Amino acid sequence: MRVSIGKATGYSALEKQKLDRGMVKLAQVLNSREFKDAVLGHTFQGKPGFASDSRTPAEVYAVIRAAKENFTAAADGEVDLNVELKSLSWFQRGVVGYTTPSSDTVTTNRRFYSGFDETDIAGHLGHEWLHKLGFEHDFKATARRPHSVPYALGDLIESLAGKPSLTPL
Ligand SMILES: [Zn+2]
Repeated sequence: MRVSIGKATGYSALEKQKLDRGMVKLAQVLNSREFKDAVLGHTFQGKPGFASDSRTPAEVYAVIRAAKENFTAAADGEVDLNVELKSLSWFQRGVVGYTTPSSDTVTTNRRFYSGFDETDIAGHLGHEWLHKLGFEHDFKATARRPHSVPYALGDLIESLAGKPSLTPL
């Protein structure tokens, strides 16, 4: 799978360099044996699968590999992302980032981005990209939310991105 940034809005040259390193990490994780095995072996409440989703791990993995975002026409097997970096106002200061179902863009709060390393970026954009594939989670911080596809796999991407080496598929 390739990772392709379409538009990157609001990034300085240095912020863009960090973004590009994060995207390299994201691609390495998505193309790794470790990621595939962890997705296929994922369980929630003792059963194969994820919270807030009735699909099997194999179905979830197939959706990821197809990589058909809600704003693109083709299942091209490529991560297509438009990203925007914004200094969110004080009342959104706890928000790391967001996207909406109708949007083709992922917005990241500069307040968090400035403290991110490339593994955090891979995990964060992985989480938001999974929303673009149609995966959802509870809005509130419920007990099951960490086991949803975006949270569980965003965390997995971040942790695998921090490994010194991964096995290519
Ligand atoms: Zn989310």
